[in-house]
Amino acid sequence: MSSESTVETLVTNAYLVVESRGASAEQKATGITDVEAAQAAGREIDGGWLAVAEGRVHSVGRMGEPMPSAQRTVDAGGRVLTPGLVNTHHHMYQNLTRAYAPAINGTLFQWLTTLYPKWSVLDDESVYLSTYVACAELLSGGCTTSSDHMYVHPRPNLIDAQISAVSDVGFRFMANRGSMTRSVEDGGLPPKEVVQDEDTILADSERLIGAYHDPNPGAMTRVALAPCSMFSVSESIMRSTAELAEKHDVRLHTHLAEDTDEDAYALEVYGRRPVEYFEDCGWATPRTWVAHYVYGSDEENRRLAAAGVGATQCPSSNMIICGDAADAKSLRGMGMDVGIGCDGSASADSADLWMETRTALLLARHRHGPDAFTAREALNMATEGSAANLGWSDEIGHLRPGACADLVIWESSWLSQTGVLTDPVEGWLRSGPARAHWVFVQGKERLSQGELLLERLNDVVTAHRAAAAHMQGVS
Ligand SMILES: [Zn+2]
Repeated sequence: MSSESTVETLVTNAYLVVESRGASAEQKATGITDVEAAQAAGREIDGGWLAVAEGRVHSVGRMGEPMPSAQRTVDAGGRVLTPGLVNTHHHMYQNLTRAYAPAINGTLFQWLTTLYPKWSVLDDESVYLSTYVACAELLSGGCTTSSDHMYVHPRPNLIDAQISAVSDVGFRFMANRGSMTRSVEDGGLPPKEVVQDEDTILADSERLIGAYHDPNPGAMTRVALAPCSMFSVSESIMRSTAELAEKHDVRLHTHLAEDTDEDAYALEVYGRRPVEYFEDCGWATPRTWVAHYVYGSDEENRRLAAAGVGATQCPSSNMIICGDAADAKSLRGMGMDVGIGCDGSASADSADLWMETRTALLLARHRHGPDAFTAREALNMATEGSAANLGWSDEIGHLRPGACADLVIWESSWLSQTGVLTDPVEGWLRSGPARAHWVFVQGKERLSQGELLLERLNDVVTAHRAAAAHMQGVS
């Protein structure tokens, strides 16, 4: 595991989580704990080091074992070090309408119809600012890769502005070219200012794939195609988007089974349940992951799991706005990849993946009982599960040698960790809050000792305040 070569960065003295998995059922039956199993298998190293070279994990080992020489050494001070968390559902532009008073106590549909007119003033400047703020916020919560479902397009080239922002931050990103075709006039929810015709959507999708989708290893930007939801797009754009994704070998994303209102809408408009409609449109494929997925039936869950469709649980958003959440434990038990998303800032009002991971732990135990789900399973959702959602499991979501060097050294308040002596990973997720203390993306330092290394951040936040005030109609 070690080497004589010189690496760029060596992190020492960490509680190193290479990959997140606990004890097997057989091990648990013999009394082996999660932490014992993980350490015995080398998935976790108490007193570990990790070497970074050329943006990748070069090697890992235990203190005392030979380490490569390094240009720079970072002492983790015994802190927990995990793979960077991966966010698989967000609407970054919505941080311009956080906690917007007229919308905060409505249903999903009421919330959307209140905010769509506000979002119609989006332009490339406000999209740049909101994306920059979102990436900075995500980095602070230990997230190193995010997708973003950008489906409101009152003006052209807004995703280009997003790519500009993520490039300035140095964040790994999967842009989701969202779309809406069905305005109020056509029986949908959004006003006509924020929808587009099908030819425009498909042409821009191809343009964005050509300009920004990097299929190569170590890519910093990729593109997925993402009609918003069945109640805001036509059946033909669902079908043609799936065909375009197949043609260009990119991923597919949409909202599915988020709210019981959706069941009634699908039965009335399409004469089918949402999942049946989704399958009939050609979407039940391994290139698809869906957001929320709360209300699938047991039989529908099994069908989508068998088809290779992944799901993103959005814990806070679902509890704030729809009242239930995806049954992650059961879906994982069926073989489905389940990741974690913070969802749009206007519904969840926070973009903190540590908090969403902890909430995923609570939801699973609340539903299934105290022996049903562990911190390592929740962390597995936020790392390997989310990476699988994005079709990126080979490179992100773990820290095995060869992985992208996307990693987080965590800091919790010293009082909250007092008494955590036997299981650092359970302690990390149960006894927080935890914040990122050091973050590397592709081996490059983006946050150091709790401080974001973003020169423009203060200026961007000031400009974001002005853009949000304009959108919300306040001074
Ligand atoms: Zn969403």
